[in-house]
Amino acid sequence: MSLLSAEKLTKTYRSGDIEVPALKGVDFSIEAAAFVAFVGPSGSGKSTLLNLIGCLDHPTSGTLKVLDTDIATLDRRAAARFRGEHIGFVFQDFNLIPVLTVFENVEYPLRMVQLWPAAKRRAQVLRLLDAVGMADQAHKRPDQISGGQKQRVAVARALVSDPKLVLADEPTANLDSETAHRVLELMKKMRDEFRTTFVFSTHDARIMGEAEVIFTLEDGRLLQGENHA
Ligand code: ADP
Ligand code: MG
Repeated sequence: MSLLSAEKLTKTYRSGDIEVPALKGVDFSIEAAAFVAFVGPSGSGKSTLLNLIGCLDHPTSGTLKVLDTDIATLDRRAAARFRGEHIGFVFQDFNLIPVLTVFENVEYPLRMVQLWPAAKRRAQVLRLLDAVGMADQAHKRPDQISGGQKQRVAVARALVSDPKLVLADEPTANLDSETAHRVLELMKKMRDEFRTTFVFSTHDARIMGEAEVIFTLEDGRLLQGENHA
């Protein structure tokens, strides 16, 4: 089953008289439980594409289907609900909430979108912290852990609501290469364990080798074909 598909997808930013065509017609299809990288230099359209997939922005034309939903049909409220139910996010700069503990950061999405009883919530948070190897750091605050550990926590947070899809826009850009490698390994392990589809972007050649499917973006277009690593 194809979890994600795009046909002739375009996005043009407009401000006043100026138009910036960021995506110029891209087609792709991604299977469930895939581990996929969109690779390309700065400005090639990676963030634009991930924002569309994450229902954070609307396409200008073409079709983008996520879990059989045509995302152009979602209004703001429906998009927010769709994101909450189906999509987890991992950010370049981790985006942990500094005043919350590691445990509370991972618990946060469950408090926002679902009314889980406290015991069930706690069990789910501990399960994820354990899976990313951070259970023993649960009481710490973000400024007491390393960058790599922060990204582990962010991966746990992205998975806590059991999403079908995790999107990570340059998740390793602020990590040294050894730590970046370990975060990618962790994401792949999570994919194996939870059967979650992971889609990430990177411009780092060392990181793209970790992907199983690579799509190369150049100036708003996908280069011919897909490469299986
Ligand atoms: P990448 O993530 O690969 O660096 P982006 O998707 O951020 O690329 O950007 C693709 C192109 O779209 C670039 O030319 C960028 O300047 C432009 N762009 C991105 N966001 C906006 C925006 N909000 N308004 C206008 N232009 C934008
Ligand atoms: Mg970007």
